[in-house]
Amino acid sequence: MSLHRNTKAVRIQTKRSDEMEHSTPMFVTSSFVFDNAEEMRGAFSEENDSNIYTRFSNPTVQEFIDKVCMLEGAEDGFAFSTGMAAVFGSFMTFLKSGDHILSCASVFGSTHTLLTKYMPKWGIEYSYADVNDISSWEALIKPNTKMIYLETPTNPGLDVVDLEAIGKLAKKHNILLNVDNCFATPILQRPIEFGADLVLHSATKWMDGQGRVLGGVVVGKKELIRELYLFCRNTGPSMSPFNAWVLTKSLETLDVRMQRHCDNAEALAKKLEGHPKLNSVKYPFLPSHPAYAVAKKQMERGGPLLTFELKGGLEAGSKFLDALELLSLTSNLGDSRSIASHPASTTHSKLSAAEQQAVGITPGLIRISVGLEYIDDIANDILQALDKC
Ligand SMILES: *Cc1c(COP(=O)(O)O)cnc(C)c1O
Repeated sequence: MSLHRNTKAVRIQTKRSDEMEHSTPMFVTSSFVFDNAEEMRGAFSEENDSNIYTRFSNPTVQEFIDKVCMLEGAEDGFAFSTGMAAVFGSFMTFLKSGDHILSCASVFGSTHTLLTKYMPKWGIEYSYADVNDISSWEALIKPNTKMIYLETPTNPGLDVVDLEAIGKLAKKHNILLNVDNCFATPILQRPIEFGADLVLHSATKWMDGQGRVLGGVVVGKKELIRELYLFCRNTGPSMSPFNAWVLTKSLETLDVRMQRHCDNAEALAKKLEGHPKLNSVKYPFLPSHPAYAVAKKQMERGGPLLTFELKGGLEAGSKFLDALELLSLTSNLGDSRSIASHPASTTHSKLSAAEQQAVGITPGLIRISVGLEYIDDIANDILQALDKC
């Protein structure tokens, strides 16, 4: 029977034990035993694929990886303790001193710190490319460019990068394309279909979707993941089996949750567009989004996030947050609970005005990670808070 990938993501499971469990078991163990010396020798020489030690592999972690591979259309993967460990692992495995990485200018805050502060320390240089001018990217490629890195939609500006165009560019120059697909999830967007070699996630966000555990994952072609695996089994960023168990169960509901996140986000975007207290509302599937056509081409739906810009700027941003009664003020996103954030006064307050501008942050920008609550309750809370600023 041929099954849809989302069905398989519900059904993929570690081989059933003699206990005949229905839900997946959790293998909380640091190591695995062998019947005899010969089997142990075979495991270490990789003649058999037995588990040895959970830093290398674990059945619960493998189940999570298998589901992400199924959803992304990838051959293989490796799971990490956090999303940042996944970003770092993918950089350290495939880049060395003297290499150059071309990255989209708006990336997750810690990724920005990694690129600008730490990678140069190891002799790896970077350039930032303009998210809204794809035609400028090719000129930034150098003879030593080994990786193109991007997020789409971007954080927090919700700009959309044309995956097909960048996929072709990477292929033309024989450069690895590494995509952080956290904001769309494979339910809405599968970068491998557009030529990405590696796709990574902070599983902390929508994959868990309930604000409980941290996790990360990188998937891609078998030979690339083999290199990543060898680096990681020796350096130790591996996911814990407990977190893998939470996350593999979460993936069974990812499609359902993402549809509801998108229903709510889309309805909220439409409701807020044109509000007298706002300069603009940005959502990839609103026709007013600058890259609406690209979003429609590469995403199945508009995603779980929207932003708007308050006319009152920085001061109105703080007032808005203080007036909220239902939405949470917390440093996370991708939760079942709606979250509001004001990047200019919090996550991105250390950036200069020019740097903020370059990544699409204006003083009055508010980002909403739209949750799973009843839509009218989310909208009413935002509307009453807008009245107060
Ligand atoms: C949160 C996030 C990360 C980092 O993930 P952690 O699990 O917090 O380490 C990376 N990229 C994006 C887009 C994120 O939202």
